[in-house]
Amino acid sequence: MSTEIEKDIICPQCGESQKYRLYASINAKENPDLKRRILSETLFDWRCKRCNYFAAMAYSFLYTDPEANYIICVTPGGETRSVEPTQEIQSYTKRTVKNLAELKEKILIFDIGYDDVAVELVKSALCTIIARTYQVNRVHAYFSRINEGEMEFAIFLPRRQEPVYHSTKLEVYRQSQEVLRALDFVDPSGFTRVDSKLAKRILQEYQNTED
Ligand SMILES: [Zn+2]
Repeated sequence: MSTEIEKDIICPQCGESQKYRLYASINAKENPDLKRRILSETLFDWRCKRCNYFAAMAYSFLYTDPEANYIICVTPGGETRSVEPTQEIQSYTKRTVKNLAELKEKILIFDIGYDDVAVELVKSALCTIIARTYQVNRVHAYFSRINEGEMEFAIFLPRRQEPVYHSTKLEVYRQSQEVLRALDFVDPSGFTRVDSKLAKRILQEYQNTED
């Protein structure tokens, strides 16, 4: 079930008070329209009805897809909200993300039945190559889609608004799955942050076993 909350907010530009609808939880199956707003990264958008002032809100909520068996805790403030997994969601894949871009990526990965941990390993390999190619220290990659048998990623480079797109062969994904199998990697039971830091730890562990 999706849970809505209505709040009064005052426009910082014109002072007009109005209602803002936010969501404590979103169920993908019941609210495909909200899912679409997440995928277009517009869920948090707010526009004043009187003066057209635009603001991007941010609040914590739970995103659940009962058909694909996953639940994601979105915490924009970075606060660790301890959500106790109830009996009902025990078997679900549970993740924590910081923003809509990260949530969107998880949805795109889980909706095609992929393993986000393996995808993070692919991203780690890809980002190393990209950073070298563009001679930058830090790049952010987001999974975008499977295109002509390859995994496509949106890459964000420092000081650039628009992403560049790069693809890797699915073979890299399969190799990443092999790494996880070799390490007997088990998905943690609680809400987990699966990101580049986790990927780094896993790859380090893998290298240690190889030595
Ligand atoms: Zn206004």
